[in-house]
Amino acid sequence: MSHVVVDNPHGLDQQLAALDLNPDGQGGGTGRRYIPPHLRNKDAAKNDSPGWDGGRTNGFVNGFHDNRTNGGFGGRGPPRNDRGFGGYENKDGGWGGAPRDAAYNSFGGRNDRSKSAFFNDRGAGSRGRYERGGFGGGGNSRWVEDSRGEDDWSKPTAPNERLENELFSGSNTGINFEKYDDIPVEATGSNCPPHIESFHDVDMGEIIMGNITLTRYTRPTPVQKHAIPIIKIKRDLMACAQTGSGKTAAFLLPVLSQIYTEGPGDALQASKSSGQENGRYGRRKQYPISLVLAPTRELALQIYDEAKKFAYRSHVRPCVVYGGADIGQQIRDLERGCHLLVATPGRLVDMMERGKIGLDHCNYLVLDEADRMLDMGFEPQIRRIVEQDTMPPKGIRQTMMFSATFPKEIQILARDFLEDYIFLAVGRVGSTSENITQKVVWVEENDKRSFLLDLLNATGKDSLTLVFVETKKGADALEDFLYREGYACTSIHGDRSQRDREEALHQFRSGRCPILVATAVAARGLDISNVKHVINFDLPSDIEEYVHRIGRTGRVGNLGLATSFFNDKNSNITKDLLDILVEAKQEVPSWLESLAYEHQHKSTSRGRSKRFSGGFGARDYRQASGGSGGFNSNRSGRNAGGHGGSRGFGGGGFGGNFYNDGYGGNYNHSGSVDWWGN
Ligand code: ADP
Ligand code: MG
Repeated sequence: MSHVVVDNPHGLDQQLAALDLNPDGQGGGTGRRYIPPHLRNKDAAKNDSPGWDGGRTNGFVNGFHDNRTNGGFGGRGPPRNDRGFGGYENKDGGWGGAPRDAAYNSFGGRNDRSKSAFFNDRGAGSRGRYERGGFGGGGNSRWVEDSRGEDDWSKPTAPNERLENELFSGSNTGINFEKYDDIPVEATGSNCPPHIESFHDVDMGEIIMGNITLTRYTRPTPVQKHAIPIIKIKRDLMACAQTGSGKTAAFLLPVLSQIYTEGPGDALQASKSSGQENGRYGRRKQYPISLVLAPTRELALQIYDEAKKFAYRSHVRPCVVYGGADIGQQIRDLERGCHLLVATPGRLVDMMERGKIGLDHCNYLVLDEADRMLDMGFEPQIRRIVEQDTMPPKGIRQTMMFSATFPKEIQILARDFLEDYIFLAVGRVGSTSENITQKVVWVEENDKRSFLLDLLNATGKDSLTLVFVETKKGADALEDFLYREGYACTSIHGDRSQRDREEALHQFRSGRCPILVATAVAARGLDISNVKHVINFDLPSDIEEYVHRIGRTGRVGNLGLATSFFNDKNSNITKDLLDILVEAKQEVPSWLESLAYEHQHKSTSRGRSKRFSGGFGARDYRQASGGSGGFNSNRSGRNAGGHGGSRGFGGGGFGGNFYNDGYGGNYNHSGSVDWWGN
């Protein structure tokens, strides 16, 4: 292949010199260069911290520390009884006419009262049931069938200090959301409700509000602002928002809130009678009210951990089932009660076939990483679960899909599962998170290992580095190599036992092994704070995978770096990669541009069917061709669409200059505000 464009552009040394990683000065100047150790002169060698790290380690500055130190649960505040609020449109009161502060300030959300008032609203009598153990796992005590049914599910159950500490100790410390309104949002579909600006703008009930306070989420993220009211009014939703932008809570909060409001309904009765049929308490089939499906085991676990937080002090018992782990233990856990189930598809089908799970009363279905869940690998299982069993049909159940990428083909397929849905694109369509600095370096296969060592040495010890390879064998081999070179590293891939996988992730998260070598199994959804550098030792073959992989860094307002090793083997991703770099305003190596140019000319069909729509996101395919969307019509830019302060969606001019398939594209964003408004 001829890719030589400028003077020997592929020489490793030139590539290294072109890497803009190491600071000449600290901070964000453009003159920063990555100089690997063996090329450094004395002066450069003094600089031992990588430039991308300098001075921007942490966006978490505020938070609820004050409240958190006050652990007392006793205290003031009468029991609240303010339910019955009708909806999101009451932005001001938001709580059924109760004065705003009376309604929620006991959580410490807006003033400096402690959370204690919230926690004191149960009589002593209701506590007894929960005080003994039984809090393990689901965040709730044993599902006590005899009295639960009569309980008001909208009321918080008694607090448990130990559990509370366990659930919330690692929580966020908050994010600076200034200039927040600049995030473009596009919501298409009929009758989309207005978005919220604060968690208090919608009635999610006191349990959820209490738990939001405990997690120290001060404000909704952009996807939460929009998705929460849509879900609250029971609309189906396909939501596309950047990696690390808070999609998990965007579905967990409103779904759990609905369950608390509506109570167990028929699910409770069904489970009771199945228990009677089986003749023994505890052997009954479980009828979850909500099902969340995820593509990997570790992601399922992570969502489950989040669900436990928002189910704290509620009657809802979350459970998780996934492959590779002891099924007997999972069954025993299910039998203690399961109202919200997080699952990987294979294990769920197994549980259904064993008669442990019935989806007859599953009113809420969430597909996280939905484009992955509906691609060829998973689609048959998803159909088996959703269409070919007892789950209520679309239109009856509520279906929500979330991802950072939504190729058009997948959107079309997804129609089978959705009824009159709203499509939400939050963020700059056609862009990966701008929090992530993306580098592409030409590295021949034979040079990859030594270049990796250079990068690792430049990174420093304190930050976490995630190294992606294509194959399981490759992961083992690279882990061995790094280990022999003296690096504390571990690996995660499909040939490792589940126990080893979870252990590896744990070691990585905790920083004990700051280098994790991974296959695609770790590409999606994992939320690991402090991942500073994602290295594509082998680039993936499709661009969605690339977007998700690099999305393991630069999360929640933090900054990150992604370095990809590119060579002849990766020509299939050239064009999409170039598009992404351009969209995200990243530096584009000239050889990549030339390669892409060559490719385009070689390719006979100009408008090759572009599977990917550009960048992180997608447009609503329903709007892409003709129709009233007018996405292509307004090149003048974002402001015309009115995103931000007002509704920012609908047919009007969400412009930007989209690619010629009228589908992907960008917002032509000119501001310098990042995803989190920093
Ligand atoms: P995504 O699914 O969009 O990739 P996650 O749901 O994994 O993102 O969330 C990323 C991180 O952001 C998590 O650590 C989560 O706790 C945190 N987070 C979510 N919502 C908020 C919020 N409103 N304020 C602060 N942090 C948040
Ligand atoms: Mg996610």
